[in-house]
Amino acid sequence: YREVAFVGRSNVGKSSLLNTLANNFKLAKVSSEPGKTRSINFFLVDGKFFLVDLPGYGFAKVPFSEQKRWRDLIESYLKERDTLKRVFLLVDSRVGPTEKDVQMKEWLDFYGIPYTIVATKVDKLKKSERVKLKSKIEKGFGDSNVTVIPFSAKTREGRQEVLKEIKKALES
Ligand code: GDP
Repeated sequence: YREVAFVGRSNVGKSSLLNTLANNFKLAKVSSEPGKTRSINFFLVDGKFFLVDLPGYGFAKVPFSEQKRWRDLIESYLKERDTLKRVFLLVDSRVGPTEKDVQMKEWLDFYGIPYTIVATKVDKLKKSERVKLKSKIEKGFGDSNVTVIPFSAKTREGRQEVLKEIKKALES
């Protein structure tokens, strides 16, 4: 099966995004356990592809051994993963890319895995912040070629774009 995966720091809004998509894919609700979800969850959608929920990173006060475990887990998942067609890298739109988000992006570049940035919680942005969103994210990643989808689980803005991107990835 082909796969699309979702990753981001803890609390970025990943379960909210997946639950927004759950309506389209007839998925069971994805539970959010802050700092606790330490495993990779595979959801088979319509018997056609896997939607992969990767554990969140960057939770404060996580011991180094746990961080290493996370790193090993993600690395073994990403390595030589021909079935993985795209990763959705979630970034909090108010915060912009953190150091760990940048690391994650560089990893994806290294493994040659295509990705799309999803800027979450855009309903929380002021109009003036909203205008600068894309350039803030490009600047944070030091890359003006990233694709950014502004998303809100609250208003469902960006849902269609994410769905379209998933469809496109699975056809490639
Ligand atoms: P996860 O840890 O990445 O799975 O994050 P969650 O989906 O559990 O969201 C973390 C917190 O952010 C929760 O309190 C959510 O209600 C809130 N949240 C998530 N998405 C949005 C959004 O689009 N808009 C707003 N206003 N809050 C959001």
